[in-house]
Amino acid sequence: MQLNDAAAEDFPTILGLARSALNLLVQFRVPPTPARFTVAYIHQSGTMTDLSLALNRLVGHDNVTPQAVDEIYDQFFGRFVEEAELRDASQRIERTVSDVIQCIDAASGSADRYGSVLAEFVDEAGNHEDDAMREAVSAILDETREMATANRQMEQRLEFSAREIQLLRQHLERLEREASLDSLTGIANRKSFDAALRAAIVRANADKQPLTVLMIDIDHFKTFNDTHGHLMGDQVLKLVAGYVAKCTKGQDTAARYGGEEFVVVLPQTGLTDGLKVAENIRRYVAAKKVVNRRTGSSLGQITLSIGAAEYRPGETAATLVHRADEALYLAKNTGRNRTVAETALPGEGA
Ligand code: GH3
Ligand code: MG
Ligand code: MG
Repeated sequence: MQLNDAAAEDFPTILGLARSALNLLVQFRVPPTPARFTVAYIHQSGTMTDLSLALNRLVGHDNVTPQAVDEIYDQFFGRFVEEAELRDASQRIERTVSDVIQCIDAASGSADRYGSVLAEFVDEAGNHEDDAMREAVSAILDETREMATANRQMEQRLEFSAREIQLLRQHLERLEREASLDSLTGIANRKSFDAALRAAIVRANADKQPLTVLMIDIDHFKTFNDTHGHLMGDQVLKLVAGYVAKCTKGQDTAARYGGEEFVVVLPQTGLTDGLKVAENIRRYVAAKKVVNRRTGSSLGQITLSIGAAEYRPGETAATLVHRADEALYLAKNTGRNRTVAETALPGEGA
């Protein structure tokens, strides 16, 4: 049978992919939850290039942690959950609107009936006895009352529908806002960054304008957490996010890329100007003294390493981000607290 043949062919392939996905997670001592297994399996199957780039990046930096793999899952699949919620809300709006339309249809049906009764009355009024006239008038009155009641009901239902639509719209706006912001720092999240970068690439191609991406990573943040605690670390992440956002404006997008990494999209900006923005951010943060507000004691200096890359016409968002990331790691390897341009990468002919 064909079906069995196909299944027999697929079985070893799928089992092989599943085994190698599991091995990958085990190799990095990442507990294989369904979400992490999904990421590893899809990576092994080679069906999502951007997901593989993200995972390879973790492998390359020896940073395949449970949290990092969960972030990849959220990045590539988490949004489906949000989208399902949005779809549900918009279906409810559609249903409400179609209720309104049915109300209006029913009302025009009443009006039609009223019109034909009136027409009959006019026809018959001229040549009938008083009894017939009384009957006709009372029929008109009945119809008029019925129509008034129907109109009042329609008004109430329309008011209810309008309130329902308003509530749904507020709910949708809140969902959209929440879905685009990072919950800890309040700046744009990874998903917004992806969307902003895609849009910026489309515009850069259309307007033949440059576009630069900055990849930012806090230096020795693990040590900071180990010394001052995770909660204080979170406070610093909020502070740094605020500083990065403050140093970028207008059409620029500053986002939390994940963990202690931030990213900035600079439309209509070439590499030279992008480097100036990067240095502004780096110096601004390095100049701040971080103080424990409760005790007043100094927590030392926070420094950033930054990689900058300029868009090359025709390339994908993933390769642009990859170059900014390579430049960032060169900044790490050459002493940290510095900005490195992609032109300094080996083979980039600087
Ligand atoms: P490097 O200079 O090479 O970047 O060193 P690092 O210690 O900053 O880098 P590493 O990748 O070794 O560690 C990143 C640390 O960032 C580990 C983790 O504790 C911390 N981190 C990531 N996300 C959060 C978070 O949401 N809150 C807090 N407090 N810390 C976080
Ligand atoms: Mg990092
Ligand atoms: Mg770091």
